[in-house]
Order: sequence, then structure tokens, then C-alpha cells
Amino acid sequence: MATVNGGISFWYATTGVPAPREPLPGDTSADVCVVGGGYTGLWTAYYLKKAVPFLRIVVLEQKFCGYGASGRNGGWLYNGIAGRDRYARLHGHDAAVRLQRAMNDTVDEVIRVAEEEGIDADVHKGGVLEVAYSPAQLARLKAFHEAETAFGEKDRLLLGAAQTAERIRVAGTVGGTWTPHGARIHPVKLVQGLAAAVEALGVVVHESTPVTEIRPKHAVTPYGTVRAPYVLRCTEGFTAGISGQRRAWLPMNSSMIATEPLPRQVWDTIGWEGRETLGDMAHAYMYAQRTADDRIALGGRGVPYRFGSRTDNDGRTQASTVAALREILVRFFPATAGVAIDHAWSGVLGVPRDWCASVELDRATGLGWAGGYVGSGVATANLAARTLRDLVQLDSGQGGATELTGLPWVGHRVRRWEPEPFRWLGVHGLYAAYRAADRREQTARTGRTDRVAQVADRISGRH
Ligand SMILES: Cc1cc2nc3c(=O)[nH]c(=O)nc-3n(C[C@H](O)[C@H](O)[C@H](O)COP(=O)(O)OP(=O)(O)OC[C@H]3O[C@@H](n4cnc5c(N)ncnc54)[C@H](O)[C@@H]3O)c2cc1C
Repeated sequence: MATVNGGISFWYATTGVPAPREPLPGDTSADVCVVGGGYTGLWTAYYLKKAVPFLRIVVLEQKFCGYGASGRNGGWLYNGIAGRDRYARLHGHDAAVRLQRAMNDTVDEVIRVAEEEGIDADVHKGGVLEVAYSPAQLARLKAFHEAETAFGEKDRLLLGAAQTAERIRVAGTVGGTWTPHGARIHPVKLVQGLAAAVEALGVVVHESTPVTEIRPKHAVTPYGTVRAPYVLRCTEGFTAGISGQRRAWLPMNSSMIATEPLPRQVWDTIGWEGRETLGDMAHAYMYAQRTADDRIALGGRGVPYRFGSRTDNDGRTQASTVAALREILVRFFPATAGVAIDHAWSGVLGVPRDWCASVELDRATGLGWAGGYVGSGVATANLAARTLRDLVQLDSGQGGATELTGLPWVGHRVRRWEPEPFRWLGVHGLYAAYRAADRREQTARTGRTDRVAQVADRISGRH
């Protein structure tokens, strides 16, 4: 069978694209206007409405809820958060430990609410397994394990080659690390379930309604303006498309493939009975899950960025990216050499200049936002949403400061990305450097991280 390329994502091939909700019919007012119907926007509407049922909340979505990364991701619901180590440097170790604990709790919070709301998102909490297959990756894996333990992650295990293979048999693996704080999910089932849940609570959701401009107390669309004391921008990788935001978070591509359902004999050679989410320690890393219907869905960087912060073509990805991801699949699991790739797709992540996720409500203007999660937004969006709820309640006098409003990522601001063509050149140069470093580490015998990757990390602001 030929590979389907695009169609938003493979996940929609299993659920169907939802019937569209009505666009904004004209000017209106609300207490809170949420821009963007992904996990961040929908969780924010959910928690605000639960906390204060009389609030009039309007969600404005340019296409349909789950059109963005929330409908296209790898389904790793896990406790990673972009920027924790930098937050430790800026605000102290204890503050970063609080952030990490909040992330650990968030994995269970998403599972709890999904259950409570009757959302069946194929959740399986099998933890996260990350593997190394070169001496340099193994050295990074050990350093990573040590750093995580220092952040209080005492339940993270360091595994030898044989122990790693007992979980998943990745060819050439020399070691691994496993944490229980992760679950596999079906991204679209979660986002569609959430959209239905917020509507059932009385939140008004308008789709096919692009917001062209956000200014204090106003969200402007071609069909009318929503006036609200609070306007919350939850547009992640699409943020550059809003007036005045072109050089804010950079839209970074990530692409995925999904195999056909694999037969029993292939699974017998691979293992993966625990349904852990799977990643590696490469610089241009991969991520994967075993789906509920026994496929492998696997992702990686591909072409990282499009000139001028352009974002989307309904999920189509380049043939060269599909070939590169297939190569990773077969290198990891030689038994998949003959299997069909049913689907390939891509989406955009939001990358701030310092690679740190953040959440903010500006008390002077009532404008708020959350995002810049880089590749770790499935759980983080939920923590951001609960934090935005607390910030709105604090500002409107309906609540006090909370543990969440005191986390170190609240109110963090960062400089803008460079103008073009430097942005394009920088990001493409960065990923060319990472790919070259990965290739050299593969054949090198030393456990040292390639120097080019170290320099790239420093220049990019990634570490
Ligand atoms: C291929 C891929 C794989 C990933 N894998 C993982 C993973 O396994 N684990 C993980 O933790 N993270 C992963 N991520 C990241 C994660 O999916 C995102 O961080 C998360 O979904 C962000 O949610 P969001 O609601 O902030 O953004 P989005 O889901 O992108 O939602 C933003 C929404 O805003 C809408 N919008 C944008 N602009 C406007 C506008 N002007 N007006 C109105 N609406 C607008 C968009 O249409 C979109 O629906 C992955 C991302 C991609 C692309």
C-alpha cells in the first residue's frame, strides 16, 4: 500500500476529521478569550470554567480543535519540560525541583481528568525508555541519569544493555534509562475528547476563525472582534502568524511515520510488551510509541524549519524525511525491513530563542500566553493551563497566589529570534551539525560528545 502523506496526521485516519464547529458570527464579548484550540487552549478553558462556572469563555480556533501539534504528536505524555536546567541556573535548584515535581504530577493529572471525563485516549502508563547505541550516547545517558537523580528523580533507573533489551530490543543498544513518569496516548482522541468536554461545560468554541491581531482586551478576526478583559494566546508553533509576533517562537518542524499493524512474529523479536514510549540520546533524536493497534509510530526532525517562519500544508512532509525516518526504524528494528509505512506527516513546535517553555499573564494588559514547549508539550500544556487559571484568578481577585503561580517558568521572557535569512541559516546549520555529529559518534570509539554538537548547543542557546 502507498504511504499516505499528510492528511493532518495518521491519528485522524483512525478517528476521522471532526465536523466543523460554527465560526464566530460577529462582534461579541466574553470574560476570557482563548486563542487556539490545542491542548493549551482547551485545558485552559476547561480549568477556568471548572473553577468559575459563571465565566463566559470563548475559544477561537483558526481551523479545527487539534489541527496543530496536539493532533499530530508522538503521544508521549511525559514529565519532560523544556528549560528546566536553565530555570535552575536562573532561580536556583529548589525552584527547578518544584517545577519537575509539578511535571511528574501533571502526567497523572491528565490521566485522571481523561478518566473523569470519559475520554478514552488509549492511555497506557508504561513509562519512558531512552536508549544509547554509541559510546558518546552512553556517556550522555549516564550524565542525564545523574542530573535527573539530582533533580529528585529517584525512581529513574539506569539500565545495562541486557536490561534494556528485556524491555525493547533496539539493535546495537549499549544501555538505557527508564522513568515511570510517562504514558502512551492517542493524541487526537485526547484533544477531541477535551474539546467535547469544554463544550459540555458551557465554553463557546468557534472554529474556522483565525485571529489576525491580539491587543489588550481584543482578539481581532475577519468575522468580528471578541472583547474580553483577558485574552490568552495559546498558538504555539503558529504564533509567528499573528501580527507583531513574527520573530517570537520559531516554528520548528517535526515529522512522523506510522507502520502498518505489525504481525505477532515481528513483535516477538522486538518485545515492547510494556508499551513504554521510546527515545534515544542522539542530538537529532527520535521518539516512538507502540500504538494501541500494534503499529510503530516514530518521529524525528527531518527538514527542521521553513524560510520566513512558514508553518503548514496540512501535515505533508518531504519524501527525504520519510526515507530518513524509515531508515531509523529499520536500524532500530531490523525485523521491520519489509513492513509498509502506512502514513507520514509533520507538524510544528514552538521554539523560544532560549529553548525555555514559559507561561505569563501580563497584569497591566490582561494578555496572557503559554507555550514554547519545544518537543515536550503534551503534559506541559496541562500544567501551563492550570497555571494560567491560577494567574487569571489571582489577577481578578478570585484567588490568591498558589504553588503554580510561584513556579520559575511563570513570567519568563526571552529575546526574539534573528531576522531572516539568519534564522533560516542558523536553524539549518544547527541541524546539519547535529546530524553530522550523530554520524561521527556512531563510528567513534570514544565516549566524548562530538565537539561540533557542543559548539552548536552553545551557539543555539539550547543548553
Ligand atoms: C510531530 C510532533 C510530535 C510531537 N511529539 C510530542 C510528544 O510525543 N510528546 C510531547 O510532550 N510533545 C510532543 N510534541 C509537542 C506537542 O504536541 C505540543 O507541544 C503541544 O501539542 C502544544 O499544544 P498547544 O495547544 O500549545 O499548540 P497546538 O496544538 O499547536 O495548538 C495551537 C492551536 O492554535 C491554532 N491557532 C494558531 N494560530 C491561530 C490564530 N491566529 N487564530 C486562531 N487559532 C490559531 C492552531 O490551529 C492550533 O490548533 C510534538 C509535536 C509535533 C509537531
